[in-house]
Amino acid sequence: MAETARKPRLGVWKFASCDGCQLSLLDCEDELLAVAGAVDIAYFPEATRGDVKGRYDLALVEGSITTPHDAERIRDVRRWARTLVTIGACATAGGIQALRNFADVAEYAAVVYARPDYIDTLATSTPIAEHVPVDFELRGCPISKHQLVEVIAAFLAGRRPVTPAHSVCVE
Ligand code: SF4
Repeated sequence: MAETARKPRLGVWKFASCDGCQLSLLDCEDELLAVAGAVDIAYFPEATRGDVKGRYDLALVEGSITTPHDAERIRDVRRWARTLVTIGACATAGGIQALRNFADVAEYAAVVYARPDYIDTLATSTPIAEHVPVDFELRGCPISKHQLVEVIAAFLAGRRPVTPAHSVCVE
């Protein structure tokens, strides 16, 4: 019996973010169906159930790093993924939550939470590239779904994506 070629494994991870960039992927409709036919979407909690463990050919990462737990999680993703692409202003620049970097996060927590001692957070919100090596950054808030499809197609084909140097709005 002929061996069928293994489909590349795609994983999508969320860190501190509003989910808007992941929704751009879900909003791809026809393109997503084509992507789903070409890859094994092995981990995408927003859309499917899946086991996080294993090797990934392409990891898409949304969101910034704001907690010690997330700082550990992104190192796991980097270990598992051959290619890691960050998507959106949160992942590439820290996002709106990086405003905390100019203030005292303990003061914020005391104002916002009844029990700030329950909050385990970092003093800063930082881009993924400050924690692990990143292969490509797709900027925008939210990202352009057409650029996202181009990035996925390019990495699956083993070429550099053709995307504009500028971002869509925030960065
Ligand atoms: Fe949401 Fe913008 Fe962050 Fe994307 S970059 S997750 S749209 S806040």
